[in-house]
Amino acid sequence: MKFCSECASPVSLRVPEGDNLPRFICDRCGTVHYQNPNMVAGCIAEWQDRILLCKRSIEPRSGLWTLPAGFMENGETTVEAAARETREEACAEVTDLKLYGLFNLPHINQVYLMFRGQLVDGKAAAGPESEEVGLYRREEIPWEQLAFPVIRETLELYYDDDARTDHVVYISDLRRTADRRIEIRRHLKNDDR
Ligand SMILES: [Zn+2]
Repeated sequence: MKFCSECASPVSLRVPEGDNLPRFICDRCGTVHYQNPNMVAGCIAEWQDRILLCKRSIEPRSGLWTLPAGFMENGETTVEAAARETREEACAEVTDLKLYGLFNLPHINQVYLMFRGQLVDGKAAAGPESEEVGLYRREEIPWEQLAFPVIRETLELYYDDDARTDHVVYISDLRRTADRRIEIRRHLKNDDR
């Protein structure tokens, strides 16, 4: 950030009084511009024994497969965001959404909230951000062509979880290591798991 969004004057990076991290502060009006993680909401949309996948037609990772997911908009709830992304990317309606997993990606300042839901009528079609969409069985998942590590993590948890009990929410931290691998730490909530 170079300029204040309130008054267009230059900002400088310094620690505000009473704070402990450097922030962009306007040199003229004093506004502190906090930068915080972005929330991403997405959906595992189920239809019988299949789930909905989308082949991305936009960068990053164009041509690779993902679950419908995207940045939340102001003024919407997490469930609304997950349903909207599914509608936008796959022209599909989902219902009965339940939180399935929460994924922390501190190296890119994102938190993913992945829901499980039911496709209303089994219909889907490519939206503007998708080259192709489809309903896939477990053995048909293109594991080598998934767009993001968080999508792989979501699907691995999903297929390892035979019971798919509604009360369990998975939490995983995905971090990029110094040699640019993604290191995953799973926290399994609920004592019986
Ligand atoms: Zn300002």
